[in-house]
Amino acid sequence: MSELNLTIGGKTHAVAARFDVINPATGEVAGTAPNATLADLDLAVAAAKAAFVDWSQKSDAELQAACEAVTAKIGEHAEELARLVTLEQGKPLNGLGSRWEIGGAQAWAGYTAGLSLPVKVLQDDNAGRVELHRKPLGVIGSITPWNFPVMIAIWHIMPALRTGNTVVIKPSPYTPLATLRLVELMNEVLPAGVVNIVSGEDREVNLGAAMSSHPDIRKIVFTGSSATGKRVMQSASATMKRLTLELGGNDAGIVLPDADPKAIAEGLFWGAFINNGQTCAAMKRLYVHDSIHDEVCKELVAYAAQIPVGNGLEEGSVLGPIQNRMQFEKVAGLVEDAKTRGQVLLGGKPGEGLFFNPTIIAGLKNGDPLVDEEQFGPVLPVIRYTDLDEVIAAANDSENGLGGSIWTKDIEAGRKLAARMECGSVWLNKHGMIQPNAPFGGVKSSGLGVEFGEEGLAEYTDIQVVFS
Ligand code: NAD
Repeated sequence: MSELNLTIGGKTHAVAARFDVINPATGEVAGTAPNATLADLDLAVAAAKAAFVDWSQKSDAELQAACEAVTAKIGEHAEELARLVTLEQGKPLNGLGSRWEIGGAQAWAGYTAGLSLPVKVLQDDNAGRVELHRKPLGVIGSITPWNFPVMIAIWHIMPALRTGNTVVIKPSPYTPLATLRLVELMNEVLPAGVVNIVSGEDREVNLGAAMSSHPDIRKIVFTGSSATGKRVMQSASATMKRLTLELGGNDAGIVLPDADPKAIAEGLFWGAFINNGQTCAAMKRLYVHDSIHDEVCKELVAYAAQIPVGNGLEEGSVLGPIQNRMQFEKVAGLVEDAKTRGQVLLGGKPGEGLFFNPTIIAGLKNGDPLVDEEQFGPVLPVIRYTDLDEVIAAANDSENGLGGSIWTKDIEAGRKLAARMECGSVWLNKHGMIQPNAPFGGVKSSGLGVEFGEEGLAEYTDIQVVFS
């Protein structure tokens, strides 16, 4: 693989220092990435600020056409991007892995290209005319995590571009490669400076922190942990930046007594273990009614036990490794602790390197760290309940509120229960499904604002009302 560089102001920008990016499946170096300095960040912001002057004046049709050109580029290079994601992130090429991620990114980009926020006439009569306009903000700073590097970059960049803003993106130090390539590709079809990228290893310099307080960045769109999100919010206050924060989740699934254990096993598994559980809106706790608890556990374990785990570049791997050592240690520690109180029904032991087989543990309850914390790994605690009010209270007893699911044959009953869940999305008989026309975001410490749809697009604008 040739060396990937920063792209700033439409040009390749080489830097003196580089850092290793590790392939989590092998422990080998997957490639190296530029270790940008604060001066590089300033250059990127200045390039985005200069490009904003023309870009913000483009017509709606021009912005749409440019976003469609970006979408086509992703399609042309889908396989290359997917391989980079597998190499640095670890997820398999196939199934719900990197090809699926890039396909999703392309679909999201295409859908966002077709959205717009036309002028709204609020009043037009003898007393006068009142119009609501949506104005681009300026330079958008995008900070992304390591679990879906390309998909999340697209979720940030496309609505920003579509509404006439320019962008500086900073990927996670664990997964910068695919994003560096993505931005190179975007620059083949966009004017110089409209999308710029800085990557860094978060050691001496924390680029994300510097972006959050940068005076020329007007908004931060951040996807990552709640702890870092709160830091971003603090640093952003001095310059009154707009914020979209998509943060951690500890989603609950609730299985009602009328559910069919065999029929729901596959959906429960993927709701929890998609991307090895390293998914913000994965099911992280499963509450099952006492009357079918053992049967649901049996079916879920039977489904999970036949899932092949391995190197994502090898045909046949359905789940890959945990993405990085720190995350691995966290998951392994929580599982070790949970074993002292719960019963391991499947897995429970670390494998070679960063591999950790799907793990299902019963006999825990709220208050156990594996239930209360966002473990972000291939582990699912199953909790027995008897009373509906009690289980709703337990599901809501969390600082997080991203998603939740209810598993029942009675859709009406499920919809009524949904209203009692404190979270941004509720799914019936599935978990974690998102789509580009449906706003997605968390309540409580899971975030601020939404992404996707017109509501998500509007977050990249300020309102100006014109009275005439
Ligand atoms: P993280 O918070 O450690 O890092 C996210 C990004 O923030 C990285 O690019 C990192 O370099 C940067 N960063 C580090 N310190 C910073 C600072 N002080 N200021 C600004 N930026 C800083 O998160 P992660 O471990 O990369 O990702 C996992 C987390 O992301 C999980 O909590 C997961 O739930 C969450 N996540 C949420 C969503 C969502 O949509 N709600 C989606 C994916 C992941």
